[in-house]
Amino acid sequence: MTQSTPDDVKNRYLSVRHAVQRAARDADRAEADVTLVVVSKTFGPEDIEPVLLSGHRIFGENRVQESQGKWPELKARFPDVELHLIGPLQSNKTKEAIALFDVIETVDRPSIAEALSKELKKTDRRPKLYVQINTGEEPQKAGVAPKEADDFLKRCHSEWGLEISGLMCIPPVDEPPSPHFALLRKIAERNGLKILSMGMSSDFEAAIQLGATHVRIGSAIFGHRG
Ligand SMILES: *Cc1c(COP(=O)(O)O)cnc(C)c1O
Repeated sequence: MTQSTPDDVKNRYLSVRHAVQRAARDADRAEADVTLVVVSKTFGPEDIEPVLLSGHRIFGENRVQESQGKWPELKARFPDVELHLIGPLQSNKTKEAIALFDVIETVDRPSIAEALSKELKKTDRRPKLYVQINTGEEPQKAGVAPKEADDFLKRCHSEWGLEISGLMCIPPVDEPPSPHFALLRKIAERNGLKILSMGMSSDFEAAIQLGATHVRIGSAIFGHRG
């Protein structure tokens, strides 16, 4: 079910893209240094298509199974699509995730690092991997605790042979996001990581100000998820 017309989606996409570019300039950063990841979870091909037809190719999804249902067909039509997994990954879905996703942003615990390591040995596919940090140390939220981040990142390399390219976080909904963005940046800097996936519809300007290289934006483009 869609409540937006294709033109609504296209226009909102264009204005979000513009706002991301403006936020980059405001932060004295190059527009090309901030990548917009359009989060299409819960929305179907009819909603996603206007964004693809506007030339956009980078999308985020939070469930492997849902993505398997809609993306293979869209990827056949738009082969240069880059898909990011931004939701929790289960060990029994790592094979499917590696097959479909170009970036897995949610490496968040030893068991998943180990499962990914095993599956990667069986395939030539090499999705980029980011580690999710639970900056707010929320018990219900996935991610590595900030104080365990350095050790986990080292183990990813030494124990599981994984090359990690960046970090991602989802700040607590009821707190100002900026301290969380700053914390993520600090952890990335001391571990030599260049990619920072942080900032969503409500807070991407602040994230860009604090160094986000990837912002993940859904509802500002597609409307509210039903
Ligand atoms: C849904 C989701 C987003 C997009 O959130 P909006 O508020 O709709 O922009 C970003 N990141 C993650 C991890 C998400 O699950």
